[in-house]
Amino acid sequence: MEVLAGQKHKHLEFTLVAVSELSSSSVPPSSTPVIARFSADSGVAELRFRQDSGFIDGFNVNLGTAQLFKLGPLKSLCISVSSDSNKEKSYARGVTILFRNKEESRDFHSAFEQWQNEDVTQGTHLPNGAISDVKSKFDNKIEPSSAKMYFHYYAQLLHQQNMLQDYVRTGTYYAAVIENRADFTGRVVVDVGAGSGILSLFAAQAGAKHVYAVEASEMAEYARKLIAGNPSLGQRITVIKGKVEEVELPEKADILISEPMGTLLVNERMLESYIIARDRFLVPKGKMFPSVGRIHMAPFSDEYLFVEIANKALFWQQQNYYGVDLTALHGSAFQGYFSQPVVDAFDPRLLVSPPMSHVIDFNEAKEEDLYEIDIPLKFIASVGTRVHGLACWFDVLFNGSTVQRWLTTAPGAPTTHWYQIRCVLSQPIYVMAGQEITGRLHMVAHNAQSYTIYLTLSAKMWGPGVEQGGIIQSSSCKLDLKEPYYRMSQPQPYTTAQDQQPHQLLQPQDIPIHTNDLEEPKLLQQPLENSGAQLQ
Ligand code: SAH
Repeated sequence: MEVLAGQKHKHLEFTLVAVSELSSSSVPPSSTPVIARFSADSGVAELRFRQDSGFIDGFNVNLGTAQLFKLGPLKSLCISVSSDSNKEKSYARGVTILFRNKEESRDFHSAFEQWQNEDVTQGTHLPNGAISDVKSKFDNKIEPSSAKMYFHYYAQLLHQQNMLQDYVRTGTYYAAVIENRADFTGRVVVDVGAGSGILSLFAAQAGAKHVYAVEASEMAEYARKLIAGNPSLGQRITVIKGKVEEVELPEKADILISEPMGTLLVNERMLESYIIARDRFLVPKGKMFPSVGRIHMAPFSDEYLFVEIANKALFWQQQNYYGVDLTALHGSAFQGYFSQPVVDAFDPRLLVSPPMSHVIDFNEAKEEDLYEIDIPLKFIASVGTRVHGLACWFDVLFNGSTVQRWLTTAPGAPTTHWYQIRCVLSQPIYVMAGQEITGRLHMVAHNAQSYTIYLTLSAKMWGPGVEQGGIIQSSSCKLDLKEPYYRMSQPQPYTTAQDQQPHQLLQPQDIPIHTNDLEEPKLLQQPLENSGAQLQ
């Protein structure tokens, strides 16, 4: 590939086989290749074409208004809107571009997107006419190495398969879409982070007029294949490879569908992309599937887990490891193990009090609301025990016009690939039944697509001093949500007989759900196989 990059984005050139205007083939075929040149020489990001010694007249494309479509592996169409000389009428022009090979076509498309975003995102022209190094909202906040690994992960079929084989997850999405056909039939849908394209295919099954499947990773190519393999649905789906923060779509969507949830709901920071997609693509009052997410939290007691984690650091207490004293690192190793949130499915009977919830309304939330999430905690202990930390899980709501459906990851509910998450304190606190436990869960987003978690739990000490207000026992920890300890291989077993009883600490928690629909939707309970625990 011959890509000539000028100094720091001043211009970028590609060699093409040919270009021609859509209406008339105005460039005579020639043996000399055509050079496509992205530049901002005139203060506006534009694409021009050069052949032999000069620029081809009338082929200037203003990247601010242009769109690029793939017609085939080597052929693309660039449509731009231009005004006639008296600026009263505007009309669309098309330039057909023929590439030498697939790689050059791919690189040209990504360069087009990049130059276009530089122009469009925020009046990027500097006084001297050059273009600043403006990046998209995604690139501005995410470390490139993190993004690279992230999209590399999702580009692999095995990881998409893992999600597809989470039947609680995929089955709930399927049911939520199919039971709410009325929300999809004849509508324009955007699938935010389409992955394999499965949700786009569901939306097409439910009668969508057209689905735009936006996927940033190389999985987009597989999605194209999968969709082409289902032609009756696929003819209403367009796969667009790129980040939702950066791609342009030809029309607005009536409904967004997405599966942007990570561990603890917010891990991966994809909810922010979902909200950006809402602001960029959704019509006012359009629907979001899902529309609400809730983080649920409750203190737990788990002596086994605590000892297991504390024991991991014992290795560093050896004073004679091949003649070396390791104890200098014991404190750091101990701290390191307690900074990992534990991911596994636990028995809900380990909960010490009923959970509380933090609600995120995807229709209303601003992207920035997710940069820092600060939740004051207050619980009443149901039993006297040692509290080892805070257990968290989440659920999301599909607020369909016909049926409302929750996808839950609660302990005791059928297990999902998200499991549950527990933040373990290195200093447990002691509580009596009826005692108040207070604290704070403070999550701060970082540029590696995850969060630093600061947890504090406090309770008054029982016994001496209680008359004077009591002595406060308080325990804090700092964890990195990006570095969890996956403990799924050793889930806590529990017997079926006891599981027939609803777990008293897990109660439905009502939250107001705003719906634009006049009719009250029917409320479906998520069937819970392992326990009677129910969350709406
Ligand atoms: N919708 C699919 C995949 C969900 S996983 C399913 O339900 O099975 C999330 C997908 O979103 C991944 O494939 C990831 O590459 C993609 N993604 C994450 N952030 C994105 C962004 N900002 N723009 C476009 N795609 C994104």
